[in-house]
Order: sequence, then C-alpha cells, then structure tokens
Amino acid sequence: MLNIQSKLPGVGTTIFSVMSKLAAEHNAINLSQGFPDYACDPKLVELVNKAMKDGFNQYAPMPGANFLKETIAEKVEKLYNIKYNPETEITVTAGGTQAIFTALAAIINAGDEVIIFEPAYDSYAPTVKLLGGLVKTYELAPPAYGIDWDMVKKLFTAKTRMIILNTPQNPTGSILSSDDMQSLIKLISGTDILILSDEVYEHLIYDEQKHQSVMLYPELKQRSFIVASFGKLLHATGWKLGYCLAPEKLMKEFRKVHQFNVFSVNSPMQQAIAEYIKEPKNYTGLASFFQQKRDYFRDLLAESRFKLLPCNGSYFQCASYSDISDEKDTDFSMRLIKEFGVATIPVSAFYQKSTDHKIIRFCFAKENATLAQAAEKLKNV
Ligand code: PMP
Ligand code: GLN
Repeated sequence: MLNIQSKLPGVGTTIFSVMSKLAAEHNAINLSQGFPDYACDPKLVELVNKAMKDGFNQYAPMPGANFLKETIAEKVEKLYNIKYNPETEITVTAGGTQAIFTALAAIINAGDEVIIFEPAYDSYAPTVKLLGGLVKTYELAPPAYGIDWDMVKKLFTAKTRMIILNTPQNPTGSILSSDDMQSLIKLISGTDILILSDEVYEHLIYDEQKHQSVMLYPELKQRSFIVASFGKLLHATGWKLGYCLAPEKLMKEFRKVHQFNVFSVNSPMQQAIAEYIKEPKNYTGLASFFQQKRDYFRDLLAESRFKLLPCNGSYFQCASYSDISDEKDTDFSMRLIKEFGVATIPVSAFYQKSTDHKIIRFCFAKENATLAQAAEKLKNV
C-alpha cells in the first residue's frame, strides 16, 4: 500500500461542489453555489468567436494580453481615479481563486500567520495551510458581521504576515466602511503586514453605498494585492478569468509564482473581454441589476418563516432558520434539498470550526422566475 501523507488532512470536497451535485441529484432549485442561471451577453460570446477567428489561439503573454491589461488600467482609473501600471502592476489570472492562491504562495512562508475573518470564502484557510502558514481567525458575529479592530489587534504577533479582506463579503453580504479602512490603517502602519484584498464583488454593492477598495487608501494600496473576477463582472463564472492588482514590488513576486503556476491564461477570451469592457455601459448597471434581484427575493421571502439578515453587497442573501428548527445547518440544508427541493449553503461551511448560527446562504444571481419558484417552496418550510 502506498503511504501518502495528506497535506490537507481535514479538508474534503468544497461545499460548492457538494451542494450543486446534490441539487442536481435531487432535482432541486440550485440557490447554493454562486453562479447565474441565465446567459451572459451574446455579444461576449461573439467577441470570443471573433478573437479565435482572428488567430488569438496561442499562448498569451505571461502576465496577460497587453490589450486587456491596458483596458483594466483604464477601467480602474475611471472607477476609482487610481492608476495601476499595466506593464508592472496588473496580471491576468485564471479567475479570482488562482489570484488568491498565487498571492499567498508568493508571500507566505512556513510559520507565517495570516488573519482571516470568518465566515470566509472557503479557499483562504486551506491555501494558507498548504503553504505551511498558520491561520488566525477572527469570528464575525451575525447579523451585522462587523469588525472590532481592537480585537483584530489582539491577533497580531511578530509572525503576522498578512490580513485577508473581502468586501463585499461572501457569504454574509456585509461590506467594509471608510471607518473600517481608517481603523485598519492605524493598526498596520509602521508594520510589514501585507493585505490580500478580495474584491471580486466590487460592483455588487447596494443602496448607493460606495465600494471601499483598499486602493483608495495609499497606506493600504502600497501593501495590497487586490483580486478581481471577470466571472462576477460578466455573468460568466465558467470562464475562470480574473486579475490581480499590486504595486510593482509585490507584483514582481506574484509573477514569479504565476509563471510556474499557469504561465498564462486563455488568450481569445482575454481579447474578447478587453473589447467588451472598453465600453463602460457593459458593466455599469450591475449594482442596480442585482439590487433589484436582492429586493425581489427579499420581498418574496418576507412571507416565509426565514429571518433575513442584512445584505449590503455580493449576490448572497443569508437567512436564519432559528424560528423553524434547531437542527444543525448542514442537516437543515440537506432536508431543504430532499424535502423542499431548494439547495442552499450551510454557513458553518465557511468556518474552520464549523460554527453553527443556524444560518443558510441563498444565491440570488438567478432568473426572477427561478427565485419565485424557490420562494414558493421556501414558504412551505
Ligand atoms: N473570492 C470570493 C469571495 C468568491 O466568492 C469567489 C467566487 N467564487 C472567488 C473569490 C473566486 O472567483 P473566481 O470564480 O473568479 O475564481
Ligand atoms: N464563489 C462561489 C460561491 O461562493 C463559488 C466558487 C466555487 O464554486 N469555487 O458560491
């Protein structure tokens, strides 16, 4: 028998794969894994076809196609009035997840500590552990999931290397404010602590609130890797393209890993995306598009026994079922699939300790008809 020592002994298959598979097996409406159930803009598909016909079928440059990097720089400048140099500070990645992995791999050495806020996107902690790093966890408390920065400071040690931020946040739909950013600046100025800022939901922010990107704060920008995803921007999660922004010194390290991790990513899609996002009207309506879906879904669920938590951003709506049952959230979500035909994500999956607040997550990036059908079923629970 081969003796293989797992590098991630406590890790199973990601909850998103598990729940989507169960949804398919039980023919349930899938509000679990975050992806749209409607088509992306056919113009985008045409642009990919065109790029293929135009011959963009060989390796793209290692850090990304120049056309796309330049278009990203223009987009970022238009949105935030901040400049990133496409040659040295922008790298196109195979989605946000690869950007996260690569940034961590470029920085984290064995024994380094990384602070994460839980519930958290499920790739952060295993990636840190795979690299021999240690995860220091700050547990956010429902319903607001706010951060007490004095408590964060208590997690600092001489080994603290990085803090991972995620705003708007998956799964809670909470966002960081400018006060949060000011508190963070006070906490880390004078240290060498770096930031990995997962901003894949930057456009999905509601009620006229402003996305607080770390790039808006020079003290934070100079020490941050910012992660973005075209999957969210273009309603095309299956394309697995995204990018990372970082100052040259950090990006140099990022690219050292990127070149041996994927080398470069899908060439025709890079051309198509660049062409598409050159036109800001192709993405500027995203917040109102998803806000309408959020409001539609929340109104429908108001007639159910679920208690809705606030949702300020992302395409996730969390809800407490404590008035319905005291089952574990994993058991409750299994029963929702089997008995009621709706798949969700138990929020305990976003904690390493499986903290269970009796909360589940719905994805509302779905056709209104899908949301209405799901709500009909959820009203019976
Ligand atoms: N970060 C968060 C918080 C996410 O929700 C996702 C989405 N799946 C990602 C990163 C990864 O994005 P991508 O699908 O582009 O890898
Ligand atoms: N980010 C998506 C979610 O939270 C899923 C990503 C994935 O399947 N890895 O549902």
